[in-house]
Amino acid sequence: WAKAAGGDRYEIYDPNRHDAQALRSTLSSGLRSALQSGDFALRYQPIVRLADGVPIGAEVLLRWTHPEHGPIAPEIFIDLAEELGLIGQLGRWVLTRGCREAAGWYRELGDRAPFISVNLSARQLHDVGLADELLRTLDEVGLPAHQLQLELTESALLGPAQGPADALEALAEHGVRVAVDDFGTGYSNLAYLRRLPVRELKIAGSFIEGLAPGHPSTPADRQIVASVIALAHGLNLTVTAEGVETEEQAHLLRTMGCDHAQGWWFARPGDPEVINRMAGGRGGDQAGYSVDPVTTH
Ligand code: C2E
Ligand code: MG
Ligand code: MG
Ligand code: MG
Repeated sequence: WAKAAGGDRYEIYDPNRHDAQALRSTLSSGLRSALQSGDFALRYQPIVRLADGVPIGAEVLLRWTHPEHGPIAPEIFIDLAEELGLIGQLGRWVLTRGCREAAGWYRELGDRAPFISVNLSARQLHDVGLADELLRTLDEVGLPAHQLQLELTESALLGPAQGPADALEALAEHGVRVAVDDFGTGYSNLAYLRRLPVRELKIAGSFIEGLAPGHPSTPADRQIVASVIALAHGLNLTVTAEGVETEEQAHLLRTMGCDHAQGWWFARPGDPEVINRMAGGRGGDQAGYSVDPVTTH
C-alpha cells in the first residue's frame, strides 16, 4: 500500500499493475538514499495497563515518507528492505534511536518510565551479532535492559535454527523482554513457547475487532481472545491486546482479565512528546502534538 500524497489513506498498491515494477524500483532506490537523507521517523504508541489505564510502555513504529510518493506503509518498505538486504542497517537505526529516546524517559522518570517495544524482523533475529550489539547499545545510551521489549512474529520464532534461540536467551538473561507479535495469526505450532524465553503475547487487532456485540464474528473472537488470555496466564506470561479502538472493547478486555492494551481508543502513534506527557501524568490529550492520521488498517 502506498499512501496517497497528502491524504489520510493508503492507496491500493496492486503488484499486478503493469507499472508495479517501476514503482518497486523507484521505492528501492528511494530506500537506499533514505538511510542517508533522514526520511525515516519513529512514532511511539502508548501501551497501557488495563486495570488503571496507566501507560507502562510504548511500541516503536517506523515511518517512511518518500519525497514524491508520500508516506509508504511499513509492511511494504520493510519487506522491500529485507529483500534488498537493508533491514540490518534500518533495524539498527530504529533500535539505537528508540533506545536513546527511552533512556531519556528513564533519566527523567526512573522506574515509572515506560519501556519501549521494538519490532524485529526475522532477518534481524538471524543476524549473528544481534545480541552483543544490542547489549552494547543499551550500555552506550544508558537504558536498563528491562526497559526494552522486542516484538517478534510467530513465523520469525518458528524456525529450528539455534542461533536466534541463543541470541534471545542471551538477551533475556540480561533482562530484555520478548513478546510474540500478532499472536494467533501465524502458524499454530506453539512449541516455540516451550523453547524460547517469551514473556508476553500480543493479541492481533484482527481478533479485537470482533469483540463488540453485534459484530458478525463476536462469538468466535471472544472465545479466541479468552483462550489466548488463559493460555498466556497459564504459562505465566502477560498479554496485550492490540488495535483497541472503542471503549467497549477496552471494557470487555478488562473484564476478561487482559493485562495491557494499545490502540486508537487510548492513543494513536505519535511523537515522543505524547509519551512524555502521558507518562508524566498529564493525561493522554494529544492536542498540539503530531500523531498518525486516521487510516484504514
Ligand atoms: P504491528 O507491530 O502489529 O503494529 C501494530 C500496527 O497497528 C501499527 O501499524 C499501528 O499503527 C496499528 N494500530 C495501532 N493502533 C491501532 C488501532 O486502534 N486500530 C488499527 N486499525 N490499527 C492500529 P503500522 O505502524 O502501519 O505498522 C505495521 C506493521 O509494520 C507493524 O505491525 C510491524 O509488523 C511493522 N513495523 C513497523 N515498524 C517496524 C520496525 O521498526 N521494524 C520492523 N521489523 N517492523 C516494523
Ligand atoms: Mg508490533
Ligand atoms: Mg502486532
Ligand atoms: Mg502486524
